[in-house]
Amino acid sequence: MKFSRFNTTIAYTDKFVLYNALQNQFLYINPLIKELIDASHDHDDLVGLEKLHPSLFEALREKGFIVETNYDELQEVIAIRERVDLENETFFHLTINPTMNCNFSCWYCYESHEKKSKMESETIEKIKALIESKINATSKIERFHIAWFGGEPFLYFDRIIMPIIKFAHEYCSKFGVKFDNGFTTNGFLINTGNITALKPYDITNFQITLDGGREEHNSVRFVNDKRGSYDEIVANIKLLCKHKRNTTLRINYTKKNLPSVTNIAQDFDEIPIKDRDYLSITFHKVWQEENTESLKDTVSSLIKYFRSKGLNALVGGLPDNLRHSCYADRNNHATINYNGELFKCTARDFKSQNREGFIDKNGSLVWNETYHKRLDAKFKNKPCLTCSILPICNGGCSQVALENIDKDYCVYNFDENSKKRVVLEKFLKLTNTYL
Ligand code: SF4
Ligand code: SF4
Repeated sequence: MKFSRFNTTIAYTDKFVLYNALQNQFLYINPLIKELIDASHDHDDLVGLEKLHPSLFEALREKGFIVETNYDELQEVIAIRERVDLENETFFHLTINPTMNCNFSCWYCYESHEKKSKMESETIEKIKALIESKINATSKIERFHIAWFGGEPFLYFDRIIMPIIKFAHEYCSKFGVKFDNGFTTNGFLINTGNITALKPYDITNFQITLDGGREEHNSVRFVNDKRGSYDEIVANIKLLCKHKRNTTLRINYTKKNLPSVTNIAQDFDEIPIKDRDYLSITFHKVWQEENTESLKDTVSSLIKYFRSKGLNALVGGLPDNLRHSCYADRNNHATINYNGELFKCTARDFKSQNREGFIDKNGSLVWNETYHKRLDAKFKNKPCLTCSILPICNGGCSQVALENIDKDYCVYNFDENSKKRVVLEKFLKLTNTYL
């Protein structure tokens, strides 16, 4: 037997947290046990440890802190990655941008708004052909998901979204395939009419963003210089909750808008308790902001405050990126832009020169070299291959890997202490002591 290469030990209170990143397992041990483990590690003597403390040895073995000598854990990580990213034939995830146009122009948006961009019927037909080619009597697909993105997808609700949803729903039903949709929208154009039109269909989630309290938000997202959008968006979120649609409110924060965020909780006061289950609230730092480590405590207090008001405020994700990689890392996903060009990542712009292929008239996805490079980009750099938290970090996502080919980099510029901090945060979140 040998110690796993993915173990981390961190001092916390008067004890130690032991974590294995491959099995995602924790042990919370006292200093004496840590000494025993350290001694066994330093003297490469697991046999001695087993004799001295058989139940500890068994717990370490069971949770993956010690593994068989010939077990190649790196190969296991690579095998999991292949299963998750390259071999899932039961699910297809299609992101559709009906337009690149938007009714707002937020300062931080990375997308270039093209006023005249709109998916033409020719491309809609190609998407229908794609659905037909993916779902048939011989395909293994059990679930087909459309993520509506943009631009603002609701600009073309009747002309683009509904015809595709109706077609996909009918087609999937015919073959017993589960079909659902998710919307990333600014929320301004949501109304009783489109909520009712979507009623027969399975919608996993609406994701809507606010940029701070009323005044801060309106200074960023406005219709014109006299008309903001905060009140309409808040009203539409309430409407979605009333209609029992799961909605995630993403609050984009900056140092400047953070003080105003408290007011948002008050604006949701009138949502009846029974409808609050449909609303989740997450906090995200605007990506152009400088390091905002110092804001962590403020954000923690805000989360507490929102929770005290009966709102479901969520702490940022617990990283488990190997088994839950980004859709763009996977070969069962495509992003189709309004003009039929193919992309993967939705966190970059959709400029033609960055496209990764196109959809042809038969609905086939014709990918180019960039796509194939992306799918082969992970686990190529030395720091990741020797990193103790590789299974939870996954070496960053495929987009970052693609942008850093041939560079030996740590995406996050982490040293060993930073990695320990990530593990400790994970432990504290799991044990609910983070806040
Ligand atoms: S930046 Fe990375 S994680 Fe984000 S959407 Fe793109 S590929 Fe996915
Ligand atoms: S990107 Fe950094 S933290 Fe992530 S696996 Fe690579 S070296 Fe480790």
